[in-house]
Amino acid sequence: MKHKNGQLEHLTFKDNSTVELKAIYARPDFEEHCKIPETLGCEFTEQGHIKVDMFQKTSEEGVFAIGDSTTPFRSVANAISAGNIAGAVLNNAMIEEEFRL
Ligand SMILES: Cc1cc2nc3c(=O)[nH]c(=O)nc-3n(C[C@H](O)[C@H](O)[C@H](O)COP(=O)(O)OP(=O)(O)OC[C@H]3O[C@@H](n4cnc5c(N)ncnc54)[C@H](O)[C@@H]3O)c2cc1C
Repeated sequence: MKHKNGQLEHLTFKDNSTVELKAIYARPDFEEHCKIPETLGCEFTEQGHIKVDMFQKTSEEGVFAIGDSTTPFRSVANAISAGNIAGAVLNNAMIEEEFRL
């Protein structure tokens, strides 16, 4: 791949033939850059997202995940929706929890 200041100019193939291009689309693998979920022991999907159930619970007790780290459907609306669910489920868990004074 030949570029000028990051602007693609052309591709060169193994046989040295070239094709001029102005843009190229790629789908790189998704990788969670933050290592905290992995350190906590959370399971990941084959696509590299943190595995969650319908209540945004991860495989680790007490650990929730939402948003882009959990789904290929990346949008603000989706992240807010998942956060809303996680918040409600967490709130319920705390209400149900027995506290000792
Ligand atoms: C260029 C671009 C354009 C987009 N346009 C749209 C659009 O038009 N409409 C739409 O709905 N969506 C759009 N999206 C997608 C949308 O931005 C995301 O889906 C949404 O922001 C996901 O929210 P999130 O809270 O999951 O993650 P993020 O918004 O990425 O928030 C995660 C936060 O966690 C912080 N963080 C990460 N690791 C750590 C750590 N170890 N400690 C502390 N903080 C940490 C990050 O700094 C970041 O602030 C766009 C995305 C991009 C990149």
